[in-house]
Amino acid sequence: MIPYGRQDVSSEEYAAVLAVLQSDWLTQGPSVPAFEEAFRGMACAGEAVAVSNGTAALHLACLAVGLGPGDILWTSPMSFVASANCGMYCGAKVDFVDIDSVTGNMCPDALGEKLQEAERANSLPKVLVVVHYAGQSALMNLIGNLAQRYNIKIIEDASHACGTRTPWGAVGNCHFSDLTTFSFHPVKTITTAEGGMVTTNDHNLAKKLQLLRSHGIEKNAALSDLNGQWYYEQRLLGFNYRMSDLQAALGLVQLKRLQNFVQRRQSLVHRYNKALADTSLTLPLSDPDQDISWHLYRVGLPKGCDRQKLIENLRQRGVGSQVHYIPIHLQPWYKQQGFHKGDFPKAEEWYQHSLSLPLFPAMMEDEQQQVIDAMHELLE
Ligand SMILES: *Cc1c(COP(=O)(O)O)cnc(C)c1O
Repeated sequence: MIPYGRQDVSSEEYAAVLAVLQSDWLTQGPSVPAFEEAFRGMACAGEAVAVSNGTAALHLACLAVGLGPGDILWTSPMSFVASANCGMYCGAKVDFVDIDSVTGNMCPDALGEKLQEAERANSLPKVLVVVHYAGQSALMNLIGNLAQRYNIKIIEDASHACGTRTPWGAVGNCHFSDLTTFSFHPVKTITTAEGGMVTTNDHNLAKKLQLLRSHGIEKNAALSDLNGQWYYEQRLLGFNYRMSDLQAALGLVQLKRLQNFVQRRQSLVHRYNKALADTSLTLPLSDPDQDISWHLYRVGLPKGCDRQKLIENLRQRGVGSQVHYIPIHLQPWYKQQGFHKGDFPKAEEWYQHSLSLPLFPAMMEDEQQQVIDAMHELLE
């Protein structure tokens, strides 16, 4: 079975992880700061803080900008549930902004209209979580201007977009945002098994993230000089959201290979686009001004296509596929919070026609051909 996504881990990663296993530190050693520094450089950000996973990254990013009970967070309904759950963890109210039907990203026009309404109703959000669907950056220049006008914090959820470059620089440079979060789950562009990262240009936010990921505990040279080596102080109510050195060592090697992964994904997408151009599928449209690190190859199925049957037939031909995503507001738990079918019609339409075909760097040409042939045959 060809999976829809899969990690690419080589002997170099095996050696790096083994070296950590044989060292003095399995966690809180030198690999985590080395990975943070390398990632910071890649993302062209001021600081990078490694955490245990992408969901923890979002949770801490929300806490760092002070999101709490009584506040409101808006995000895209066309994302993984974690993009919204992070607001709920903080006791905030969560709402959504509908998507642009071409890219699947948050629609700046819809955002503008919703902000005007919210201003009149005195219910402006404190935080906007902007998701870069499939790896293509949302229009941060437009969204950033709106957020600035209404004094809203922006967190970019770049779980899909590690390695993407925009006209305003690398995703993660926080040019139009306060913080950017990444996930290193094995289906993402680079992996640490479980892992995440937050980048920012604000030293105070970085400091807060570092405290929050480790119980809110401060331990530094000044405190030690005053009170002894053993001394530490809890300053905030934090968590254990640390990344281990085993994970960071894996991440360091993966990060070195990022450009190769991005190029490989781009050439696979290019080949899909050419080979599927004559079908009834709606192929991904990409912004020519971006150098996109594609996480997903999402196609739009034609009207009347029985997706369930197509997925089953693909499976019988050895081809895995996946749907990205069930709109968050239609999840049972979110419906219990008062959301309904019809609330975000463009996201719902997108979902109805979505199918993600296999895309991963180690995918062989004959494997991709198998997917292409199966799609041609099944769409006839
Ligand atoms: C994967 C993902 C997350 C969560 O990351 P984890 O590392 O699995 O916790 C959050 N948002 C989006 C858009 C994702 O794709």
